[in-house]
Amino acid sequence: MGLIFLGASEAQKRTQAPILAQGNIMRLIFLGPPGAGKGTQAAILAQELNIPHISTGDLLRSAIAQKTALGILAQAYLESGELVPDALIMAMMGERLAEFDALGGWILDGFPRNLSQAQALDRLLQILGQSHPQAVNFNVATESLIARMLQQGRKDDNENLIRRRLEVYQEKTTPLINFYKQRRCLIDIDGNLTPEAVNQSIRAKLSLAVPV
Ligand code: ADP
Repeated sequence: MGLIFLGASEAQKRTQAPILAQGNIMRLIFLGPPGAGKGTQAAILAQELNIPHISTGDLLRSAIAQKTALGILAQAYLESGELVPDALIMAMMGERLAEFDALGGWILDGFPRNLSQAQALDRLLQILGQSHPQAVNFNVATESLIARMLQQGRKDDNENLIRRRLEVYQEKTTPLINFYKQRRCLIDIDGNLTPEAVNQSIRAKLSLAVPV
């Protein structure tokens, strides 16, 4: 028998109050290949803006570690560098974005990762009564990406897996650059600079950006 429980969730346990008073709620999507430094930048900016940094990779790895149903279903995809099926990702993100701390803005890192996730995110935001997000696109040379990832050396990252993740990014995720560009809410960032310089350029460009 399948039961669906709706209602009380982890949301109630989170204590950090969202910044509802600020007129300019930041909803940001960080786009860029694996190794581009999105995670580092998302963590820094999220802290500066006092909004949650929502990383699908971290959520999935934590589900795997806790052996939840989602984790068990997702594990093989992460190990092979393929995308986890959209339905699982959308269920996870639908729940996360409806949590209390996500009302005052967020930075999404690793999501959306293909066009259908971007469209599903639009529908989800419409249901939640939230406006379009702003996309921040990290540009980094491919050779630097591989070198950085091997250096970081997450234990599940061997070179073949890294190459596969880069291919999947090229094939599935790069179309999102045009998707958000056409909507005139894409900011391009040079990710080859130092982390401090990248942070400064994101902040500078965000205050100039005019989303439609
Ligand atoms: P990165 O090292 O690029 O930051 P992530 O930690 O974001 O990688 O993601 C690791 C893996 O988790 C991906 O290779 C993929 O298998 C899965 N994953 C993360 N986000 C998504 C998503 N939005 N859709 C499908 N799969 C995802």
